[in-house]
Amino acid sequence: MASEFDLIRRFFDRPVRAGGRTLLGVGDDAALLRVDAGMALAVSTDMLLAGRHFPNGAAPRALGHKSLAVNLSDLAAVGATPRWATLSLALPEADEVWLAEFAEGLFALARRFEVDLVGGDTTRGPLAISVTVLGEVPEAHALLRGGARAGDDIWVSGVLGQAAAALAALQGRVRLERDLASAARARLDTPEPRVELGERLRGVASAAIDVSDGFAADLGHVLERSGVGALVHYAMLPGVRTGDAALDAQCTLAGGDDYELIFTAEQRARSALEALAAELDLPLRRVGAIQARPTRLVVLDAAGQPMTLPPGYDHFAQAP
Ligand code: ADP
Ligand code: MG
Repeated sequence: MASEFDLIRRFFDRPVRAGGRTLLGVGDDAALLRVDAGMALAVSTDMLLAGRHFPNGAAPRALGHKSLAVNLSDLAAVGATPRWATLSLALPEADEVWLAEFAEGLFALARRFEVDLVGGDTTRGPLAISVTVLGEVPEAHALLRGGARAGDDIWVSGVLGQAAAALAALQGRVRLERDLASAARARLDTPEPRVELGERLRGVASAAIDVSDGFAADLGHVLERSGVGALVHYAMLPGVRTGDAALDAQCTLAGGDDYELIFTAEQRARSALEALAAELDLPLRRVGAIQARPTRLVVLDAAGQPMTLPPGYDHFAQAP
């Protein structure tokens, strides 16, 4: 039986990037990190629990990816460049096949974004995964929820609602045609954090947030923090198309887990953002405008009528 320390050494102690900012990684009492002058350290944590955030028996490689990806998405949403991560794991048993695959999923994504895993904690218990990420952002250019101003455009990256559509398909609430089914499933299992977009929005976006709870709920957080309202046209949203219009609206407006970015920017940034979309090969859609009227989100349907908005995901508002 492998000891806790063997497991850590075998699966989570990997060389850090040569010549990088990591002075000391896994293996000591604390990691030592060097932050560049003038940069703020951006820190974010997310916890994933078996039976709540993912099904028991979920594929470990995808879990490794997703547990880092959801955290990188938070860094993207403040415009930070990811540098480091820590991993706290509770495991029911020392399943070495599971650990090898989990580590592979996590490190494949970490390598792509040049993130060093620099520490963590490993304990026995019901499967739980908590990742903390640390990144750097120029102090004056972090993208905050509170920066949206009346007259700003509202933009969304990528497609909304695919992860929720995949979940609906898994639950037998819809049948998806094959291409959509695989795209949606990939979105749910292995979301792509919009790190590069976040970095490029520094100095361009006035506010940003990533879509984890659903478009309406997450844009609502921006409105609240910014003390503004918003008018959005449903037809302009880059929503999933399953063939079931009611489900599409539900997934597009309230589906969590997409990890796209919603951001606001002055109208004069339009051509720069269109050029950025082409450069990143990532659709950026202008979906509405910020209004002075505080905190109210109005989404108009194709006939120009205000839609009733479904609630976003809330761990304590929903039945357990
Ligand atoms: P301590 O007793 O000081 O808390 P641990 O024995 O928990 O130290 O951990 C030993 C080293 O291994 C530390 O550097 C810690 O950060 C690292 N570590 C523990 N678990 C993990 C993990 N799951 N992933 C990465 N590093 C880990
Ligand atoms: Mg410890």
